[in-house]
Amino acid sequence: MIKKESLERWTIEDAADIYGIRNWGAGYFDISSDGNVVFLPCRKDEKKSISLTEIIEGIKARGLDMPVLLRVGNILDSQISLLHESFRSAISKFSYKGEYRGVYPIKVNQQQQVLEEVTRFGRKYHHGLEAGSKAELIAAISLLHDPDACLICNGYKDEEFIDLALYATKMGYKCFIVLEMPGELDMLLERSEKLGIAPLLGVRVKLASRAGGHWTESGGDRSIFGLTISELVDVIDKLKMKNMLDRLMLLHYHLGSQIPNIRDIRSAVVEACRVYSGIVQEGAAMGYLDLGGGLAVDYDGSQTNYVNSRNYTVDEYCADIIETVISTLDENQIPHPTIVTESGRATVAYYSVLLFNVLDVSRFETRVLPDSLPEGINENVINLLDAYKSINLKNLRECYNDAIFYRDEIRQLFKHGDVSLRDRALAENIFWHIMVAVSKNTQNMKTIPHDFDGLDAALADTYYCNFSVFQSLPDSWAIGHVFPIMPIHRLNEQPSRKAIIADITCDCDGKIDKFIDAHNVRNTLPVHNLKADDEYYLGAFLVGAYQETLGDLHNLLGDTNVVTIRVDENGDYFFVGELEGDSVSDVLTYVEYDIKAMKTRLRESAEDAVRKKRISVNERAEILKAFEDGLNGYTYFER
Ligand SMILES: *Cc1c(COP(=O)(O)O)cnc(C)c1O
Repeated sequence: MIKKESLERWTIEDAADIYGIRNWGAGYFDISSDGNVVFLPCRKDEKKSISLTEIIEGIKARGLDMPVLLRVGNILDSQISLLHESFRSAISKFSYKGEYRGVYPIKVNQQQQVLEEVTRFGRKYHHGLEAGSKAELIAAISLLHDPDACLICNGYKDEEFIDLALYATKMGYKCFIVLEMPGELDMLLERSEKLGIAPLLGVRVKLASRAGGHWTESGGDRSIFGLTISELVDVIDKLKMKNMLDRLMLLHYHLGSQIPNIRDIRSAVVEACRVYSGIVQEGAAMGYLDLGGGLAVDYDGSQTNYVNSRNYTVDEYCADIIETVISTLDENQIPHPTIVTESGRATVAYYSVLLFNVLDVSRFETRVLPDSLPEGINENVINLLDAYKSINLKNLRECYNDAIFYRDEIRQLFKHGDVSLRDRALAENIFWHIMVAVSKNTQNMKTIPHDFDGLDAALADTYYCNFSVFQSLPDSWAIGHVFPIMPIHRLNEQPSRKAIIADITCDCDGKIDKFIDAHNVRNTLPVHNLKADDEYYLGAFLVGAYQETLGDLHNLLGDTNVVTIRVDENGDYFFVGELEGDSVSDVLTYVEYDIKAMKTRLRESAEDAVRKKRISVNERAEILKAFEDGLNGYTYFER
């Protein structure tokens, strides 16, 4: 990992390699010749690369502090285009007779700015929205103004939800009400009759097909959503009876998010096409086949079927779907439907980067060993030193195990009062020298034995960083999801330290000790030494999907500042949106504190302290001002 031949000059190519940026960056991120991470709003067009360090300067000049969530509008546009252009070319390549309609599932990032952007740019492709709740439907109706775009209503529905969706249909939206539960049908029929609005009906089914990955439970028989095949038949019968089978137009399934293996995607499409054919043969109108989400993001850049990756490109995804639909439906001469997908993650993940500064470092350091051991020192300490002196590539494991054995013995003896404080300190120091020597030797091994798992992390520095994992990278904490993280500058210098990252919550889970690697994950991140007067910045990339609203207020660290930029045709960029993050009084209000009452109480206790002559009237004023400033301040560390 760290370059062996230190004589060989370190170049940005080496940096690109160890951080994998050209693999996961998907053409949007790279390193400039002066060692800064840049983004390329128009994928691979190097003329328009913009450095993140420069953006940070611009952010600071506008008075905003780190951490900042940076969104690059162009990248979102580019991802929407990529999806539509890929489907367009697959449709023409295979002479598919239907169309493609994308919808953006709001739950993936519900921020108003994101929806505005998706609907504004998506307009030329008739990109629609998917709503899973009443609130999302209301947001969708207010932002989507395109009668050719689909508005898909999933999720549990009460009367209010159904009424809203029916009104949307009446207003001219292509608003599909998708039955998730058998019980929803009666209510829907009743409301539609009462309001006199004929619904556009869809059904969500549980397929037997399943997918690997983090979210496997969303699909398959055990998924909590959707109708079983028998329930689907009941729905068809009921609609037939009511003479409303012509209202059934869409079949939907959702296998789960981040599906790493294209085989799973294909096999679900085959099964869904069989169901679709069956419904058409029953006499339903149909016309739409909605394959849900699942299009994965290659977070580690490995292009494999590992959970953080995917073994297909967007082009291959589209081509496989179109080809599979054609071959399955053509067998029964079923007309080609409009294909709908609900890609959320792949649409928005690339467009946000979390930028944060390093506040402090706790370095792993061994102390110099004395030339000789004191007379009469416990023999376990002598053994430990002997083990250290005898280390070579052949006896690594033996020395490692001996070291742990002797150290434990010494700790036992210490507990019984048989080893002094200084002797124990000396022993621990020798122990860590052994660990360092073992770790150095393992770097020359092809495969590192499992015995040494965790050694790297034990010898790593801790870099304390100005952000909250719980607020900004909740999936990293909750499900062990791995995002690409790296320094955004000084990449023309060889990183000399290995670190794990700790956030500023005081929770021992508030850390990151899993990092992307081309072959699995690694436990430490290569980083640079901090320089006394310079900030050191890291970026967590590909965080646009799911992270913003799932985050919580752990330790009352609130929303970060958000900045959106846009690059024009000339390569000039502009700040198009600045959202100030939560202040301390904001987050206190979220947990029901009454700020006014807090101020009154503080004024009273300060007055009391004046009366008791603990503070002067001037000091009282200063204290009240500090309190006021604290309430108005950012919840993160401010320099
Ligand atoms: C969450 C969800 C999606 C989004 O899936 P991605 O993998 O993020 O594209 C799509 N459809 C439904 C029904 C969902 O619940």
